[in-house]
Amino acid sequence: MKLADRVDYINEPQTIAMAKLSRELAAQGHDVISLSLGEPDFTTPTHIKDAAKQAIDNDFSYYTPVAGIPELREAIVAKFKRDNQLTFTPDQILVSTGAKHCIMNAFMALVNPGDEVIIPTPYWVSYSEMAKLIEGVPVFINATVEQQYKINAAQLEAAITPKSKLFIFSSPCNPTGSVYSKQELAALVEVFEKHPNIFIISDEIYEFINFVGKHESIAQFDSIKDRVITINGLSKGYAMTGWRLGYLAAHPAITKACEKIQSQYTSATSSITQKAAVAALNGDMKPSGAMVAAFKRRRELILEEVKQIPHWICNNPDGAFYLFPDVSYYFGKSHDGKTITTATDFCMYLLHHAHVSMVTGEAFGAPNCVRMSYATSDEKIKEAMRRVKLALDKLV
Ligand code: PLP
Repeated sequence: MKLADRVDYINEPQTIAMAKLSRELAAQGHDVISLSLGEPDFTTPTHIKDAAKQAIDNDFSYYTPVAGIPELREAIVAKFKRDNQLTFTPDQILVSTGAKHCIMNAFMALVNPGDEVIIPTPYWVSYSEMAKLIEGVPVFINATVEQQYKINAAQLEAAITPKSKLFIFSSPCNPTGSVYSKQELAALVEVFEKHPNIFIISDEIYEFINFVGKHESIAQFDSIKDRVITINGLSKGYAMTGWRLGYLAAHPAITKACEKIQSQYTSATSSITQKAAVAALNGDMKPSGAMVAAFKRRRELILEEVKQIPHWICNNPDGAFYLFPDVSYYFGKSHDGKTITTATDFCMYLLHHAHVSMVTGEAFGAPNCVRMSYATSDEKIKEAMRRVKLALDKLV
């Protein structure tokens, strides 16, 4: 069977592959603790679920405008004003089927084959694959753990070429939890000011899961605002991963281009989810606050546990719900005649010998690291780390 070439030049997300493997082990009767999940383990707040139920009962079940229902776009405009001090009009907002869909819309609207897409590493798994899907060329900037996994202005300048078209990053970052301060963003903005043809996608899906205080959006800088596509959504901050709603805000010409693409591709996202989103964005933030407080507590817990494992080099994540330690110390160590040579081997060893799943850093462009999600209970975190320590002790 001859399929299109593009199927071969992208990878399946290793996050999803790992989840599949651990489900298979669990189905065989093993008690697998998953630290590989990229979603809150909380339920959607009641007032949001109620709004969706009401929408169903009111038969709000027809196609909506492609860009989203007017009251939702208004609610998003109000959210940007309230939380980010950003002023948009509804025609600058596009609602899509998850933040992932927003990013793909923007990639398709901005990148021609051969254009370079600059991606700081470690990066979220899909950025590189999306760039490849549209025949863009990913260009990586390596941010080390010593830099808290954040790039600086000199590195950005060095990565720019006449073919650079787009820069994409997430803050708070998946997988590292790094959060850029306003000062750090200002340094990058100075570089972008010198290169007016580069667009910037700011993926802010983890905005609310921030332990250092105020979230900063790069669109706050007026000198580059017209080139920034700000992406956000409901998945992480409201525990609504399965509802599938994300949104972008950009210059009207960019939003219109994305809407045009979306209109031929998926149309609007679910009408019911849109009504739920209005309730989420206009409603009580206490449930989200409680969730973030729990993540903060678990972060302390898992950091404490990790500190007891010698040789893991770890950053201090300021947001999201991941740890991203460098575990390369274990490369070359063996158990039962099998040698660990990569982060993938390391994850497989822990999956089979500790029944704990995590995701290889190779998926995020950081082959010495593994990603551990602490979006799980305190008890499971403690038990998982106990098992990991026992399994590591067996390596020689
Ligand atoms: N951006 C980042 C950095 C993510 O981690 C994720 C999901 O894991 C997404 C975007 C996609 O979000 P959504 O579920 O809204 O499509």
